[in-house]
Amino acid sequence: MNIILFGPPGAGKGTQAALLAEKHSLAKLSTGDMLRNAVGPVGNLARVYMQQGELVPDSIIIAIIRDRISQDDCANGFILDGFPRTREQAEELDRMLHDEHKKLDYVIELQVDDERLIERVTGRFSCAKCGAGYHDTFKKPRKEGVCDVCGGNRFSRREDDKVETVAKRLEIYRSQTAPILAYYQAEATQDALKYAFIDGMRRIEEVMRQIDEVIHVKQNG
Ligand code: AMP
Repeated sequence: MNIILFGPPGAGKGTQAALLAEKHSLAKLSTGDMLRNAVGPVGNLARVYMQQGELVPDSIIIAIIRDRISQDDCANGFILDGFPRTREQAEELDRMLHDEHKKLDYVIELQVDDERLIERVTGRFSCAKCGAGYHDTFKKPRKEGVCDVCGGNRFSRREDDKVETVAKRLEIYRSQTAPILAYYQAEATQDALKYAFIDGMRRIEEVMRQIDEVIHVKQNG
């Protein structure tokens, strides 16, 4: 089962991708994480774009994904979180899948109001030691300054989660990424690909339940 999770920054793609990956034994392919962890010249170049809230050039990200989806842990299926983000990436993904004899089963779009997106993204932070995610309002550590998971006491915020950069990322989502939804909606009418909208404003468990329902319906015909 191969899934694309679609949605603007702060829609909850990363959270839902992690839950889905665990539940269905799928590989989670988060391009933002891959780029943040990239080292050497590719990592350095990517950081220049990421800090500005700009998209990293298609050629870089396409090469990373092409290499990644051919690996063994993707054989049972994968979830794409943050890819594709441009028309070029979407077309290239089709070619890659064709070459690998794979296909897409679901494109799931998480919808959240702009105001809520900004609130979610600008308030989020994570444990510097184990990466556990928190939020200034919605998910504070139980004991202030101490990570619930590992007891660490250092936290970090993504540089591109500043309010000005988030506005830029949202603008890019609207102008470059959202238009490719039409590409998938058109494909979904022609073959087995299922396209679904999900209300991403709800609680994490409720969003998960809605996604599961979409998957369940298709798998059971
Ligand atoms: P994310 O963690 O998905 O919010 O991504 C963080 C940043 O990584 C984005 O703002 C882009 O700069 C870069 N990035 C992630 N995925 C892609 C992609 N598919 N194409 C281009 N840039 C990307």
